[in-house]
Parts: sequence; C-alpha cells; structure tokens
Amino acid sequence: MSGGNGVGFDDLLAANEEFAGSFALQGFDGVARAGVAVVTCMDSRIDPLGMIGLKPGDAKIFRNPGGRVDGSALEALVLGVHLLNVQRVLVVPHTRCAMASRSQQELRTIIGESAGQDASWQSFHVIGDQLDALAQDVAKVRSHPLIPDTVQVGGFMYDVDTGRLTQHG
Ligand SMILES: [Zn+2]
Repeated sequence: MSGGNGVGFDDLLAANEEFAGSFALQGFDGVARAGVAVVTCMDSRIDPLGMIGLKPGDAKIFRNPGGRVDGSALEALVLGVHLLNVQRVLVVPHTRCAMASRSQQELRTIIGESAGQDASWQSFHVIGDQLDALAQDVAKVRSHPLIPDTVQVGGFMYDVDTGRLTQHG
C-alpha cells in the first residue's frame, strides 16, 4: 500500500509555492472561454486540455471513472451551458480503460483484497461495450431537456497510445 500515513503533502505544497509565485491565471471569470466542455475519464494518461489545443480557462472539464455521462456530469453540463458559455460538448472515453476491462465482480474482489475489507457493497460502473456506452452517453446529453439543440455534442474515443481522437457520433 502506498499513500498512507507519513507521505504528506509537503512536496505538493512546495510546488504550489512556485506555482503561486508566478501565477498568471488571475482575472478569469470562470466561463469556458473556448465554449467547450469535456467529459472524460480520470485516467492520468489523459490531458483533456492539451489533447484539443486548449489551455486553462478555455474549457469545463468533468472527469469520473470511464468518462461516463452520469447524473453529476449532466448537472455540470447544464450549468456549463446556461451559466458558463459552453456551446460544444465532447464526451471522451479512451482505449485501455480500466472501467472497460474488468467486471464489477472482479473489481470488488481486487479492491476487497487491497482494502482487507468486504467491497461487495461498492458499485463500480464498469463498461461492457465502450462505443455502445458512448452512443448512449451522447444521446443523454443531446436529449436532455435543459440542453438546447444549439449545443453541439460529439462522442470521441481517445487512443492513449497515439494521442489521437476519433469521432464516433
Ligand atoms: Zn479510464
């Protein structure tokens, strides 16, 4: 096990001192300057701004395991569209996603062993067919009553080995 007691946050706070010392992001108003929102996976191989040529301030980013359009993602998108200038929404799952490579039961077993605790009660929203899930997720955004038809919604698969996005609906 890593990340337990004793590791602390000193290295990160030291880095933050440097960041704050040359801070150049002040004066932002929190809108998405490029009018973009991205729903994607928490996977550390994904740079959601860099992969589409954007920078801090340009886009709203919503991440969860698998990059799924769940209730929280829809809440974020409704806020983004109505309050934060979002006009284009990208839903971006990715290749070699952990949420698409194991069953819920397998994850419960692995997590249970890691935790030394019963994990059978914990939901893991695993994905069977990623493209099928993506089509459903895009449809959820497009058909949402509070997201107007003027908002463009696209589904894209991100290849973690090449950095390339491929549109699927
Ligand atoms: Zn993933």
